[in-house]
Amino acid sequence: MPLKDNFIGYSILRRLNIILLFLVFQSRPCLAGEAHEFYLRGDLSKAASAYFQDAAGDPASARPLLNAAMCLKQAGRYYDAALAMTRALEREPHNPDIYSELGWLRFHLADYTGASSAFETAIRIQELHPRAELGLASVYANLEQKDRALAHLDKFRQLRPDFAGVDYILAWNYMNFKMYGEAEEALIEALRKDPSFTEARLPLAGIYARQGKFNEAWNQYYRVLDYAPGHPVASKMMKVLEGKLTKQPEEIRPPFRITRPLVMEPLEATESLSSSVKIRVGIGATATGKQGRNNLLRLKSFEGLTVTGKRSGKIFARIPPDVSWTFLHESGRVVLKDPAGKVYGRFTGALLVKPAAPGGTVIFDADRRTNNPWFRGADRQYRGYIELWPVPGRGIGTVNVLETELYLLGVVPSEVAPQWPYESLKAQAVLARTQVLIRRARGGQHRKEGYHLCDGQHCQAYKGKSIEANTTTRAVVETEGEILTYHGRPAYTFYHSNCGGWIQASKEVNGWGHSPYLVSKADGHPDHPEAPLDPWSWNLWITGNPGANCNYPGRVRASEYRWMKIIRQKDMTFRVNKDYAVGEVLNIIPLKRAPSGNVNSLRVVGSKKTVDVTREHLIRNLLGFSSLKSTLFKIEINRHKDGKVRNYWIYGGGWGHAIGMCQSGAAGLAGKHGKSYREIIEFYFPGTSLRRIKYVKKNK
Ligand SMILES: [Zn+2]
Ligand SMILES: [Zn+2]
Repeated sequence: MPLKDNFIGYSILRRLNIILLFLVFQSRPCLAGEAHEFYLRGDLSKAASAYFQDAAGDPASARPLLNAAMCLKQAGRYYDAALAMTRALEREPHNPDIYSELGWLRFHLADYTGASSAFETAIRIQELHPRAELGLASVYANLEQKDRALAHLDKFRQLRPDFAGVDYILAWNYMNFKMYGEAEEALIEALRKDPSFTEARLPLAGIYARQGKFNEAWNQYYRVLDYAPGHPVASKMMKVLEGKLTKQPEEIRPPFRITRPLVMEPLEATESLSSSVKIRVGIGATATGKQGRNNLLRLKSFEGLTVTGKRSGKIFARIPPDVSWTFLHESGRVVLKDPAGKVYGRFTGALLVKPAAPGGTVIFDADRRTNNPWFRGADRQYRGYIELWPVPGRGIGTVNVLETELYLLGVVPSEVAPQWPYESLKAQAVLARTQVLIRRARGGQHRKEGYHLCDGQHCQAYKGKSIEANTTTRAVVETEGEILTYHGRPAYTFYHSNCGGWIQASKEVNGWGHSPYLVSKADGHPDHPEAPLDPWSWNLWITGNPGANCNYPGRVRASEYRWMKIIRQKDMTFRVNKDYAVGEVLNIIPLKRAPSGNVNSLRVVGSKKTVDVTREHLIRNLLGFSSLKSTLFKIEINRHKDGKVRNYWIYGGGWGHAIGMCQSGAAGLAGKHGKSYREIIEFYFPGTSLRRIKYVKKNK
């Protein structure tokens, strides 16, 4: 979402920023600035040459050679990189990390003898070296020495117990050794640590199907679609399996039902929230925020409902408490039917479906006949009222109209865990409230669809009333009306799930624009700013488990902080060619990186042509069947002896765009460093200030 550079005092602040940055760099050890600049810009050969020059000028240090090696490696020149690493070893012969990374370069070049000797040396120097253990396991797996491969994997698992990638690699090996029972267990373990790990769910479904466990297989494919809607393999396999199921789909995957009013701890203060401004939220929206394809909806209320024409104000129907009526989309109209199937009316205009008592809610009954997955697997409950209208060629337009503050009660627990440290919940409430103002004011994005915000990640997640929790409700109440401003205007309060350890500035990302408070910084201790990492340190950092606010075991899933996947050449070529006809993929090179390490331009070299992909979401969607969690990754290309690509190893960190507030990091700042929500917000949006808005109640 692009920003506009329309801030007062913007240029003064930018100048100030430059001065501040200058000071930060001056006070740190020299970064071999020019070479690092080339590297970030994607001039990888120039960067390597500049580092080699540094190396010549400083014959005692291995560091410039290691940096040069990382630039060459990123460009796909693994032989040259390995040579530079060997030279670095002459300068620093007792560094296990150099041996280990050299081992990986050799492994990816299919030099298994050379690789295992480098890994062995690393382990001789440092007994517990996770990367070297994984390396040895991979070497033995390729040499089909099953027992040795599994023994080293086991060690790696002990060293990185939280890392879902471990179980995934184990499973990958078990599959290659045709040990399907063990593979099944490892995949289940990987999914326990990371339910969004589509690459683990697919083979698990395959194993179930092979064993004739069709119900289980079907369920796994169904869940793949939860995380990767429209996934081609999963969609196809579900159809194939449908005829083989021994249970009804509802029995395999029982829908979540809301059967009686949820009893909440009474919180008097929520009363006052209902005087805030009403907003329109598109519910059950698609991943891009468009109206879902609602062919059928079933609505009820514990209080009973009225169905009113929006324009005429006429009450068309009164639905008794606890009884569901059906709204169907038929030839450009909304058709209303009672439970007996009697048609109550066919409508071309908008209908308002309102609870019959004040403070009541509207419930959408889960129904498998609806095309919209949001209304298929679980009952959904909303405050305020619902507006429905026919959208020709699409379905029933569905909007929840309610007061801003009541909407926030459903947003905050959809965005963060209600069990998180309380101050981080308050920070989230303020940012979400500010988002409402921004989206309302900009109006444009969803105006055509008939709402201010959609209910997905596209705007901000909103799951309605049934997800509300006491802690998050209190956070909304206690910050009522508070928003974040910059020079008197609402600030762009972007946030993301997990930055992976480093926040990137908005100006680094194509199409986002510059904003003086959306800055780049380590998501670390607030009192100890850190300088960006050079290529060598960054490479170790992304495969390691470094400390950060958002590395918060017990509160934040480890799989959101560090993740990995392996993609076969055949799958990569298939996937890339769906978007770009490059022919066989020969090389994939991250070109531009932000100082945080996020890839903001990716080159794909194919047998027919070469493309550069520069949009954040396009980069994330390109590599594999389900999208990458973030652009913070390194990619290693594993080749056969003849140079042909075998597969791609992607090591990544974080979840989301890494701009603005890191939600997991906010939890860490509150929980580990005892920071207040004001301090958290100041950390992620330096230079902004909090303000309290007064809602002026308008009618309607
Ligand atoms: Zn949206
Ligand atoms: Zn973070």
